[in-house]
Amino acid sequence: MSQYWSSTVSRLTPYTPGEQPQHQRLIKLNTNENPYPPSPRAVEAMGRELGASLRLYPNPDSTPLKAAIARRHGLTPAHVFVGNGSDEVLAHAFCALLKHELPLLFPDISYSFYPTYCKLYDIDYRTVPLADDFSLDIDDYLGPCGGIIFPNPNAPTGRLLALDAVERLLAAQPQRVVVVDEAYIDFGGDSAISLVERYPNLLVVQTLSKSRSLAGLRVGFAVGHPALIDALERVKNSFNSYPLDRMAIVGATAAIEDEEHFDSTRRAVMASRDTLTAGLEALGFEVLPSAANFVFARHPGHDAATLAAALRSEGIIVRHFNAPRIAQFLRITVGTDAECQALLESLRARL
Ligand code: PMP
Repeated sequence: MSQYWSSTVSRLTPYTPGEQPQHQRLIKLNTNENPYPPSPRAVEAMGRELGASLRLYPNPDSTPLKAAIARRHGLTPAHVFVGNGSDEVLAHAFCALLKHELPLLFPDISYSFYPTYCKLYDIDYRTVPLADDFSLDIDDYLGPCGGIIFPNPNAPTGRLLALDAVERLLAAQPQRVVVVDEAYIDFGGDSAISLVERYPNLLVVQTLSKSRSLAGLRVGFAVGHPALIDALERVKNSFNSYPLDRMAIVGATAAIEDEEHFDSTRRAVMASRDTLTAGLEALGFEVLPSAANFVFARHPGHDAATLAAALRSEGIIVRHFNAPRIAQFLRITVGTDAECQALLESLRARL
């Protein structure tokens, strides 16, 4: 019955999300969730909200959350946009800021949602291959283009682009918006949010799904010059002016304000990442340097798809991408130390 489809739907290639099995017995290391619980203050705030006012519509501007994010970064709420997960924020950024006559640039390999958004919004794009060691060279992004987007650290490789390189790119492309997708920045990188006041062409997108352990709540945000934020608000208000529900607003606000919990959780993840990396290397894996809450690793003597299937049969799920250049890699989320040890044991028995 596809004769009923619009031309937009006909050209879509929808994103294939990671598997989300809902039973608890699996060791789930496939979609980069945080193994630790969210801030207890966030959980309490949501409990209070649940007992109070779900009868009423939420604040359409998510004012308390924008204020908390702005305060944390020494900016104003006019610099902040919020949405249902950073995926939604990114979708609005593609529509509002990244569509021009010239092609949008992003790396090949990077977040596989980007081409999906380009097709949704009919945006011309060109992918730029990463170097052999999967690093990103900003010299490849200095020519005429319609805009630039990249994850930093990159996904699924985990490699970080240093902040001074991000800044050189912003300075070299003043006429174009540069979107830095910082879903994983809290696990070892310096955020480009510190550059927002100097570069009106910068939009930084972050999420509460990873370092704040709130993937299930669906909250993401963007920080940038108020003119860029206005463009996002225009698109948002053309869809649905209540982007976040009441639980998300209070839970996310409390999570952003709980600096202590944030810091201890991300430090625990980073320490486990080092242990996991050492354990994989001891088993003969080559592990890319990661600044994220996952590692990207390949074994010279073993097929990645076979290893992923073998782990799966033992109740451990990791991500395997059947794509050129990366088909020999496994992307493994950093779990608790116990989960990482179970993974290493299971691999040891296979190699
Ligand atoms: N950007 C990147 C690079 C990601 O890997 C993800 C998670 N899949 C997201 C954005 C979206 O995360 P969320 O919608 O949960 O904020």
